[in-house]
Amino acid sequence: MSDTLASNLTAVEERIRVAATAAGRDPSEIRLLPVSKTKPPADVARVHALGYRRFGENKVQEAMEKAEALADLDIEWAVIGHLQTNKAKYVARFATEFQALDSLKVARELDKRLQAEGRRMEVLVQVNSSGEPQKFGLDPEAVADFTAELAAFDALDVRGLMTLAIFSSDHVRVAECFRSMQQVQRGLQDRDGGGWAELSMGMSGDFELAIEHGSTCVRVGQAIFGARLDPNDYWPGAVTAWDPQQRDHVGVDLPERGE
Ligand SMILES: *Cc1c(COP(=O)(O)O)cnc(C)c1O
Repeated sequence: MSDTLASNLTAVEERIRVAATAAGRDPSEIRLLPVSKTKPPADVARVHALGYRRFGENKVQEAMEKAEALADLDIEWAVIGHLQTNKAKYVARFATEFQALDSLKVARELDKRLQAEGRRMEVLVQVNSSGEPQKFGLDPEAVADFTAELAAFDALDVRGLMTLAIFSSDHVRVAECFRSMQQVQRGLQDRDGGGWAELSMGMSGDFELAIEHGSTCVRVGQAIFGARLDPNDYWPGAVTAWDPQQRDHVGVDLPERGE
């Protein structure tokens, strides 16, 4: 059996190592979160067998189905997509981590449901670093006030920030998103005397650039699991990779976007 998942994973790990080293960082500071959305449980099981325990999913229903299908394995689930308040009760049951907190309503509901379940959850606050209206997340200017309210929620273990950069082949604009996140993070750390260690940013097409700008968690789907062909699931679009050596974008080997 040809093991594409294993070789993809090795290639991504190597890219992370190279990017971290180029940035003068220790590669062990950067967590690789495999994003398994749209991919079958068997693929998750394979990557789990290769040493990964936590997986990212952006839809609650799909994540729950996989959690059930893979209940025998010691897997942790990270919900990385926008959450409606009425779905918080499900997430409180099965997820270890939620990376897309951007409303107090959801925070309140999650906290309540977690308390009822006797659980806690790792949480990242999503920031809209690109200013695109279609993106979820808080405006960078709103993060200070928002995060000040989160201390009230005992079951939320708030660890840092998450963002999706603009999808663009213009690396200057992508880097601006990542840099603005570092600024927001520093502002919170100054205010709180530390904390806010997690900076989740970077996906298949831009994770090297994110690592250069302080990312501690890269969420990588397609470069591990292969392209997602359903356009509805196809986020963020065509994929390019940032090559820190060449200072240019290079195409990675993925099929063309389907119709
Ligand atoms: C799908 C998704 C990713 C991974 O994107 P890839 O291009 O597959 O690496 C990362 N973050 C979020 C929030 C996603 O929904």
